[in-house]
Amino acid sequence: MNYEFRVNDLAEEFGVHRNTIRNWIKNGSVKADPGPGRQYIMQWEDYQALCKKFGRKPRLNPNQDYDPGELQKISTEVAVPPLVLGDRDKTLYTDPSWADTCLTCGTCASACPISGIDGMDPRKIVRMAFLGIEDELMASDWPWKCTMCAKCEEACPMDIQIVQLMRRIRSRRDRDKVPGPIHKGVATCLERGNNLGIPKDDFLYLLEELGEELAEESCPGFVTPVDEHGARLLVTVNSKEPFAEPDDMKWWWKIFYAANESWTISSVNWEGVNWGLFSGDDEAMKTIVGRIVDNMRRLNCSALLLPE
Ligand code: SF4
Ligand code: SF4
Repeated sequence: MNYEFRVNDLAEEFGVHRNTIRNWIKNGSVKADPGPGRQYIMQWEDYQALCKKFGRKPRLNPNQDYDPGELQKISTEVAVPPLVLGDRDKTLYTDPSWADTCLTCGTCASACPISGIDGMDPRKIVRMAFLGIEDELMASDWPWKCTMCAKCEEACPMDIQIVQLMRRIRSRRDRDKVPGPIHKGVATCLERGNNLGIPKDDFLYLLEELGEELAEESCPGFVTPVDEHGARLLVTVNSKEPFAEPDDMKWWWKIFYAANESWTISSVNWEGVNWGLFSGDDEAMKTIVGRIVDNMRRLNCSALLLPE
């Protein structure tokens, strides 16, 4: 059974640039052959595996005949629920998170450390959501300037979940229009296990080398523990450290050494920074968290450290 697709459609589906899809086809990450017109064809199983990797539900298989009842059932199963900023039927009493409980008091704006930068303040965003000015909100850079510190929420007398609102707005922007590198980092993490795409062999070589340095410098006998089954603590890593500041990792390791801690780093999916949180991509976030849980289970660790 095959899955036929156009590069643009697959790029949109997985939230990556079309050149990324072309590169994946070229390097074999996506096993697809040229088809009629400008389409490509891949095995349905390969498409399902790709969806699984990205934590997404497969679309309907276009090569399969569905009877109307079955089609309805499958359509319901795979439909992505529409993301809404606020359901106006909700009331203060049923869901205090919705924007229509806002008093316009401006307490959130006074608490926000970036209020006033480029005209942004959280009250305006809450009001725009309440008034249904959604397209402008989605196109605005304001929600992307938010640091998600939640000071506005703490200050809000109506307990409005402003950070959740920011993430919901972010999630509605087309993935190729997400500002900065965060969506690219999410896509790279889903594909290669860390935000910066550091190859496994390079990472393991670096861990070994840093461990040898530490043993010579101040921790006799130190060996970086990788994939130690039964270690108490699983330590995740911010990929910026192996990429640009590898010596920073040694500070943690010295503490573990001094405390005689039982700990380990996973050789795969070791990223500790989940950029899905910032890009508003809940599905990706869930997949990345799930991989850490898998590592905990695989290595039988009982505690987790997210040093970021
Ligand atoms: S979460 Fe965003 S809007 Fe709220 S105070 Fe922090 S920066 Fe401002
Ligand atoms: S603090 Fe809460 S109630 Fe007051 S303006 Fe901000 S969101 Fe509205």
